[in-house]
Amino acid sequence: MEKYNPKLSSCKLCDSNNIHFYHKDYLDNEIFICNDCGIQFLNPQYTDEHLEDYYSDYTSSLGNEWIEPLTYGHGYYMSIIERFIKPGDMLDFGSGNGVLANTAKTRGWNVEGYDVDCESTQRVSKEIGLPIYCGDFPDVQWKKQEYDLVTMHQVLEHLKDPKDMLKQLLSKLKKSGVIFIAVPNINSFSARLKFFLERIGLRKKRIGRYYDTDHHLFYYTPKVLKKLLSDMGLEVLHVTGCHKVRPGQSKIIRFIKKYTWEKLMLGSAFLVVAKK
Ligand SMILES: [Zn+2]
Repeated sequence: MEKYNPKLSSCKLCDSNNIHFYHKDYLDNEIFICNDCGIQFLNPQYTDEHLEDYYSDYTSSLGNEWIEPLTYGHGYYMSIIERFIKPGDMLDFGSGNGVLANTAKTRGWNVEGYDVDCESTQRVSKEIGLPIYCGDFPDVQWKKQEYDLVTMHQVLEHLKDPKDMLKQLLSKLKKSGVIFIAVPNINSFSARLKFFLERIGLRKKRIGRYYDTDHHLFYYTPKVLKKLLSDMGLEVLHVTGCHKVRPGQSKIIRFIKKYTWEKLMLGSAFLVVAKK
């Protein structure tokens, strides 16, 4: 089985040929950067066969202690979205363990999910009592044609052609509908510090581990994602850090993190809310 596709010679987001080598990680994977739009990406990228094989063993199931912090964090995301749109029909693309879909349901959203693997979607669908579509996206037999809200929580970084997928998702969004995207931030304080230490030779172990190149293919900064969405005709409404809380974390620590570290987008992920 081939692991890698031929090397990309242009940027998947903006078609520019002005791309060059940027970093190489401990897995010998090369990371390129586009000088025109600023996106960083794995190059060469994995073949579909390799990714299928990889995800057949991939599990995102977390211990029970994570249910509360995840539900709390996802409630915060929904509260941001609800500043711009009131609850209606929602599609959670890449619904995974169903926590975001379930959180939205309790807030009055009429939620449907989508994920690739039909076995796990059936299980999650039963658990949370919501319909979850599966299989190849273009072949899905949708009951609804359009949604008020499309959410993509930690999904975009996994996709081989993020722009194409976004276009397909925008076609399922009503006019003036809202899209929510949360992704890892390659400009986080931790990633920038590690990158700097690697460049000056002070960090030599597990170089570039923060890229997660075993399953993340594109590496976004808030600026890059904002530009991509604007170029696709969307109006960016809000950009801020993801509020990531841990099991047992006290309310005061959560509060401080939310209004300092995460507000400044120094944490490991960020979110964007945009309107069609
Ligand atoms: Zn580009």
